[in-house]
Amino acid sequence: MHLEEAGGGGMRERLLVIGGVAAGMSAASAAKRVKPDLEVVVLEKGAHISYGACSLPYYISGDIPRIEDLVVLTPQEAEETRGVKVLTRHEALAIDLDRGEVLGRTPEGEKAIPFDRLVLATGGLPIVPPWSGVDLEGVFTLRTLEDGTAIGRFIEERRPHRVVIVGGGYIGMEMSEAFRKRGLEVVVVEKMDRVLGTMDREITEVVERELASQGMELHKETSVEGFGGDGRVREVLTDRGELCGRYGPLGHRGAPKQPIGRGGGDSPWDEGGGGRGWASADRRPRGLRSGGLR
Ligand SMILES: Cc1cc2nc3c(=O)[nH]c(=O)nc-3n(C[C@H](O)[C@H](O)[C@H](O)COP(=O)(O)OP(=O)(O)OC[C@H]3O[C@@H](n4cnc5c(N)ncnc54)[C@H](O)[C@@H]3O)c2cc1C
Repeated sequence: MHLEEAGGGGMRERLLVIGGVAAGMSAASAAKRVKPDLEVVVLEKGAHISYGACSLPYYISGDIPRIEDLVVLTPQEAEETRGVKVLTRHEALAIDLDRGEVLGRTPEGEKAIPFDRLVLATGGLPIVPPWSGVDLEGVFTLRTLEDGTAIGRFIEERRPHRVVIVGGGYIGMEMSEAFRKRGLEVVVVEKMDRVLGTMDREITEVVERELASQGMELHKETSVEGFGGDGRVREVLTDRGELCGRYGPLGHRGAPKQPIGRGGGDSPWDEGGGGRGWASADRRPRGLRSGGLR
């Protein structure tokens, strides 16, 4: 692929950024500010850039009516206002440092995209523990705009009445509030002996009292082991037994760095592929959560 095809920049020095959300767009914009004659090109495998994942719970609660409102900058605005060329639906598959090229999967097929300097800003991947039933309908993760859209659509179309959230960390707490606001009964499962384990106990006690006052169920010192159901999730399996067949499930997630590399699996990111990105299942949940709705 010629420089012109990817960025239209000719022979200028090119900075290529992989990943177009917080870190990637910050790096790209800062580089352009500091060195205006640099050609800056961002590869983003998804359809959107620069969105606020932090606000996803407020989209699900209904406080933010449209998911598009979470997008801070479109690719066109990035080019017009910051001089940064963004190529969405462009996934970096492999990096050849000797040749100074990234192999990209693009809507037009695979292409080599040259660079002089490279920034990796690929964020994290959810940890998917080896739980049974994680693929059942009704089990969700929450990380991207697409995840948020899927959960919002499920609530609209299927009218679930209960949700189980795995993990009582920050996002789990935000999501419990969001689902409650949507009128769902909320169950939180937490492996440790309290929610928000990084905070002082006097604070977490206030939060736990608030959960109870809102009518939410909290199961502490309870470890999820899988989900049961026939096509659709029906129960959450824990080390304390089955957690009510009436509930839908949840899951937990962590955030290892996304690997870049080609492997043998269907996706370069799956375990049989890149293989470097997944954390072990016994790692304590950090950051991301999935919710199960019923
Ligand atoms: C529900 C939720 C609530 C949150 N709340 C807060 C909060 O209150 N405060 C806070 O500080 N943080 C919060 N966070 C975390 C915050 O959103 C992340 O820290 C931030 O998004 C990380 O930005 P990033 O650019 O490093 O990675 P990401 O946002 O993960 O972006 C990486 C991008 O790289 C792309 N990419 C990956 N691999 C490739 C590839 N091979 N080729 C091309 N593109 C690729 C991905 O598609 C993705 O768009 C929250 C996150 C979630 C999910």
